[in-house]
Amino acid sequence: MEPEVSAAPPLVGDVRADVAIVGGGFLGLWTALQVKRRDPSSVVVVLERTRCGHGPSGRSGGFVNHYGDRLAAMTAAFGADDARAIVDASVRALAQFEDWCLAEAPGACFTHAAQLEVATGPSQEASRDLELSAEEVREICDSPTFRSGTLTTDSATVNPAGLVGALRAKALAAGVQLYEHTRVNGLRDGPGHVALHTDHGSIRARRAVLAIGCQTAAVQHLRRKLSVASSHIVATAPVPEVLADCGWSPAYSICDLQAMLHYTRLTADGRILFGWGGGRMALGARQHPALFEDRRVQATLGRRLLETFPALTASHLDVAWGGPIDVSADHLPHFGTSGRVSFGFGFTGNGVLPSFMGGEILAAMVTDGDSPLLRLALVERRARSFPPAPLAYAGGTLLRRCMLRADRRDELGEHINPLLASAIGVPRRLGFQLPR
Ligand SMILES: Cc1cc2nc3c(=O)[nH]c(=O)nc-3n(C[C@H](O)[C@H](O)[C@H](O)COP(=O)(O)OP(=O)(O)OC[C@H]3O[C@@H](n4cnc5c(N)ncnc54)[C@H](O)[C@@H]3O)c2cc1C
Repeated sequence: MEPEVSAAPPLVGDVRADVAIVGGGFLGLWTALQVKRRDPSSVVVVLERTRCGHGPSGRSGGFVNHYGDRLAAMTAAFGADDARAIVDASVRALAQFEDWCLAEAPGACFTHAAQLEVATGPSQEASRDLELSAEEVREICDSPTFRSGTLTTDSATVNPAGLVGALRAKALAAGVQLYEHTRVNGLRDGPGHVALHTDHGSIRARRAVLAIGCQTAAVQHLRRKLSVASSHIVATAPVPEVLADCGWSPAYSICDLQAMLHYTRLTADGRILFGWGGGRMALGARQHPALFEDRRVQATLGRRLLETFPALTASHLDVAWGGPIDVSADHLPHFGTSGRVSFGFGFTGNGVLPSFMGGEILAAMVTDGDSPLLRLALVERRARSFPPAPLAYAGGTLLRRCMLRADRRDELGEHINPLLASAIGVPRRLGFQLPR
């Protein structure tokens, strides 16, 4: 848990800026720092609706993953060369991200953690080549729900709140003007400048950046490029005796191979953090409170945690939270510019490292500079649209139910009937990426 720092003041009055950035999550803060690095004399303003990191960035599970595991899917979408370029850039970004965290952000607790992916049911085992036997998996972490698995060695974990705190502090130290509790209600592009309006002020900027995560679903020309789901996490109190019992160390993070995946890791103070991508969908940009706190999902998640680590009891469960996920049709982010406004969104639950890359991309865009990342196929791409929000919501909710049922049947060793399997396959047949 991070110590609270006092909020930056809200914007009152009219200001001018070279670059106005809407959103104080990872993407907005990395962009602000990168613009300042490129042009230290530029006037950079960040406008955050609540507090920096109070959205998904500070609520994240803290898994740091490059795009190596997406090579096959990206090759199908972009071709071999472009796919390889994205993977290579993300691997380089991981090394740079590590250097930055170690030098600038001790509170981010950057930790190398090999990622163990485990099957928890027979059909997950049948779907992948898994090189570790169940015995080998249980030597890493002894859980009765774990079967065979596979290991990715070049991944890491961070404390997301510590990372946001460091980014915010570095941005302020670099001279970025930060306004918190400042919601941008309107934006008008041109001629010659972008005008942004808030409750008590306005900004006139040469260029603007939208780094507003799921709220991109409220932007007219981008709204069909994402749909909004949610993910939830339960954390235990520090449990050294349970960790000794299952032999698990922070050198490994773990996720399963369910369609609605569970992900779990250890914190620096010895808590188990246990998350699940099975939360509800949102209707467009509407932020239903259940995206952030959903008692039913928390109860399901708590039960699942106790099944996974039977040495835990309900009294070990300490805190739970959730947050919205900006899902793109192919689960890869979009970066682009329309007029004087650049944007980034669609991280689909893998945003910690990609938002670091996104900061460099957006900073290069708004300073009319260059970066090898500008030539990645993630930039200015034509991407598949979702159906209009009510249809995407209804279809996504139905699909989620089917997946939850199939996941549960699989882990109980029950047969997944052909109708259910076929229903789950519909989005893929329509060209959408499934959660897994
Ligand atoms: C529970 C959970 C677990 C996750 N786990 C992981 C993980 O382990 N690894 C990983 O890589 N990713 C994970 N993610 C995803 C990751 O957190 C996001 O992809 C990432 O934080 C996105 O950063 P962002 O800056 O684009 O968006 P956000 O963090 O959503 O930031 C956008 C900001 O914009 C502000 N904003 C919106 N509208 C306005 C407006 N009109 N005016 C002013 N401000 C506005 C919001 O308040 C918010 O602070 C997880 C997400 C959740 C919810």
